[in-house]
Order: sequence, then structure tokens, then C-alpha cells
Amino acid sequence: MTVRIGVIGVGMIGQEHIRRVTHALSGGRIVALSDVDRGRAEKVATSVPDVRVHAAGEDLIRSKDVDAVLITSSGQTHEQYVLASIAAGKPVFCEKPLATTEDACSHIVDAEVAAGRRLVQVGFMRRYDGAYRALKEAVAAGRVGAPLLVHCAHRNPKVPDGYVTEMAIHDTAIHEIDVIRWLLDEEIIATRVLRPRRNSRASAHLLDPLVVMLETESAVLVDIEVSVNIGYGYDVRCEVSGETGTVALGETSSVTLRVGGASSGRIPTGWQERFGRAYDIEIQEWIDGLAQGRLSGPNAWDGYAAAAVSDRAVRALKTGERATVSLREKPELYEVR
Ligand code: NAP
Repeated sequence: MTVRIGVIGVGMIGQEHIRRVTHALSGGRIVALSDVDRGRAEKVATSVPDVRVHAAGEDLIRSKDVDAVLITSSGQTHEQYVLASIAAGKPVFCEKPLATTEDACSHIVDAEVAAGRRLVQVGFMRRYDGAYRALKEAVAAGRVGAPLLVHCAHRNPKVPDGYVTEMAIHDTAIHEIDVIRWLLDEEIIATRVLRPRRNSRASAHLLDPLVVMLETESAVLVDIEVSVNIGYGYDVRCEVSGETGTVALGETSSVTLRVGGASSGRIPTGWQERFGRAYDIEIQEWIDGLAQGRLSGPNAWDGYAAAAVSDRAVRALKTGERATVSLREKPELYEVR
């Protein structure tokens, strides 16, 4: 069975996923596109065979030719399209964030629970990265004993001027927030945000770097350095320090150059390079799951829980104080992981 996919939002990552499904993956076909900028959708359509452009996302969702919806529009539009997909009874893959606030994510959880079946998957692609999976396996197998601390870094070479400080949390650190819940298999109960000395290369309006601290239910303490003007490359790091050892993501370079008395490897230039393979696996597993009538990826609860933590972290950034996270009761629909 070929899964017929409609894409809403054909900007940067939308085009990447369209290319991925069309040229790299199997079992899926892009049959419909929509974007607030219709001209952009028309232009993208010229490189996709037999695709139809819809004026509105809701039309695409309702179309009988569309089996599943891929949302890659801007974050503030996600809630409306995810809710419309649930109302139409169609599986929907929504790029992160599921929605921009805890409340909006909670509405999505309510709608899915009312529908009585899982339809929503959220684009937390790190769960599909080989190195993160190996890290999780090592922790789950008890290779380092009980985890006590996790040290993370999310470093970007630079960000555009429109990037504001809150985005360091709800756009950037949101990946660590999700990955920590998944890695440790427990919820985050509190957060605080520290403001180190500013990077002089950052825009005047931007606090950069930040250190986002998280506390989990079992009292594991997590520190996340978010640096978005670090220049040297796109560098994502994660080290778990346990009772008997440590385990960390390895270096990402596939070759090590030894020359002139020094040893060096390549650092990715951006998230596309670092996580390209993870996106492929993420979308392929989604398509395969749809063909078999099941969804196994990060769900609406994961999107909600991550948004609840990032909302509190933004508050903690403003107050400078520790903010506790209290999640709503977890519906039974999400109990089986
Ligand atoms: P982008 O390049 O700005 O693309 C978003 C597209 O959606 C643009 O064409 C935008 O048009 C369009 N759009 C805006 N409002 C719309 C609406 N109401 N209906 C339909 N289309 C609409 O952004 P992007 O970088 O691709 O990011 C898109 C989403 O993917 C964001 O939620 C982002 O956080 C997420 N993302 C995730 C990852 C990841 O690592 N998983 C990486 C990158 C992005 P205009 O430009 O005219 O507004």
C-alpha cells in the first residue's frame, strides 16, 4: 500500500521532507501541498510528480486523495491543522512543536482522546538518531548504574536576527527536553534558567548562551547549554553520569584526520547534516507504521509534556527562579509507549 501524503507548509523543512519522501524513502507519495504562500506551493509542486496544490490546509486535510497529513508550517499554525486532521480522522505527523503553548497541546490531547485512537505523531527526530539510541540502550541496560546527572549542549553556529531569547527554549532546547524524558523514561518536574556572560557575537536583544536546568521525578539533574552563536559548527552533546560510569554521544565525524602532529574530525555545519539520517528513519518508520495501521513514534502526550516544560522554562527565564512543572493526568490512550 502506498500512503498518500499531503504536506502543509512548504518552507525549509517541508521541502526537505517532500524530497525525502519522493526520492529517498519508500511506501509514501506526496499527493497534495498547501502553503499560506500559494506561489511557493505552486513552485515546489513543479518538482513533485502528480501533486495537487490546495488553497487552504483544511481543504488538503479533507481531500479524499490524502491518507495522512504532514504539517511543516510555522509553529503557531500547528494546533489548527492538527485539530482539523483529528476531526477528519486522519493520521498526522506534526513537526515540533506540537503547538506553541501547553494549553494548545492540551486541546490536541483532548481531541485525540475524544477520537479514541492515536493519530498524532510529533517530529522529535532525535529519538531516531543512532547515537541517541545507543545512549538510551546503554542507560536502560544499566551500563553506568542509576543515572544521576546529564550534561547536554545544543550549539548552533549562528541564528537569524529574528531569533529571540525565548526561542532558545521553545525552539532549540525543546529537543533536549523531549530527549531527556525519552532517555530517562520519566517526567521533568522542575526547571530553572541561568544566564551566563553574554556572547558578544549575539544580536543585542539576545541572551546567549543560556543554561537550562531540569529536574526529573527521580531527582536526576540535567544541565543544557544552549549557545546559538558559537560559530564553530552545529554541535549536539549529551553525557549521562551514573553511579558507576558515564556514557556520552560519540564524535559525529566518520573520519579522523591525523596530520602535522594533530588529530581532527569534521563537525556538522547544521542540523540537516547532523540529523539527516534520523529524519529519514523517522519518516520511513511513520510511513511503514501507517501502512500497517499503527503509530509508534513520539505522540501528542510527548508534545504536550515538552510544551509544559518549555512554558515553565520561559517563565523561569523571566523570573530567575525555579519553576515547577505539573502535568495534567495522563490519559490511558498514552499509557502504552
Ligand atoms: P519555514 O521555512 O518558515 O516554513 C514554514 C512554511 O509554512 C512557510 O512557507 C510559511 O509561509 C508557511 N506557513 C505559515 N503560516 C501558514 C499557514 N497558516 N498555513 C500554511 N502554511 C503556512 O519554517 P521551517 O524552518 O521549515 O519550520 C517549520 C516547522 O518545522 C516549525 O515548526 C519548526 O520548528 C519545525 N522544524 C523542526 C525541525 C526539527 O529539527 N525537527 C527543524 C526545522 C524546523 P510564510 O513564510 O509566508 O509565513
